[in-house]
Amino acid sequence: MSQTAPFCELCATDEAVADCLVIDGHCHVDFWIGAYCQDRHIEGIIEVCDELGVDKLCINYGACPEMRVANDVVARGIRKYPNRVVGICYINYYEGGAEVQQAELKRCFDELGFMGIKVGNFHDIYPQTRGYFELEDPLQPTWEFAQERGASILCHGVVTYDIARRYPGANFIVAHGGGAPEGYLRVAELPNTYCDTASTGVQTGALELLCEKVGAERIVYGSDLPAFDLGHRLGVVMAAQISESDRELILGQNMQRLLNNVK
Ligand SMILES: [Zn+2]
Repeated sequence: MSQTAPFCELCATDEAVADCLVIDGHCHVDFWIGAYCQDRHIEGIIEVCDELGVDKLCINYGACPEMRVANDVVARGIRKYPNRVVGICYINYYEGGAEVQQAELKRCFDELGFMGIKVGNFHDIYPQTRGYFELEDPLQPTWEFAQERGASILCHGVVTYDIARRYPGANFIVAHGGGAPEGYLRVAELPNTYCDTASTGVQTGALELLCEKVGAERIVYGSDLPAFDLGHRLGVVMAAQISESDRELILGQNMQRLLNNVK
């Protein structure tokens, strides 16, 4: 089913682009080197969301290596917009061992109301860097916490087949996986893996291929705001040659289901 023509017409109006539940499953806030930055502060971001019809934002700070500092910025957004901002706890495995990770996860989930986890990489600013495949042990407390709470983890390249298989109660969202289906398809046979649409490049037909090969119920809309314009990835999903029911799953229903799973 083609939505290209109606989508283009809609963009020329004042109407919200998507008339269904829209949850941005992968975005950030505040300072970001080289970011597109429509407005990197939460107040401005919410204004853009209102214009486009984006209902909720799953935010991790992501560009700060200090976990508490990063997560406190997101917590401010939750306090100001409790119905719009979903906190995603940023875990930096270079910052401390198991106890530090566990303490920050508990602080974010139990005290600040966070509902998801992001693991990422700041290899270049730490003296002892680790390769992706050496990360299983350092991040074990995080995988275990996610398993126990039924939380989803946004992963920048660090999830492996073995990790996803060992923690079936956790859900793993492969960041940017929607723009690189050839990579995502390798872990797609595991039902607790998802991919998002945030990407530095979206290949033509990538979403259609993923819907066909693994199903729309495993794809999550994400913008990577403020590194990229919030509307661009929304347009990628809106213009994809997929059914309306698949589009609604990708735009918001899948992420809502993942959030409902959190204990
Ligand atoms: Zn990102």
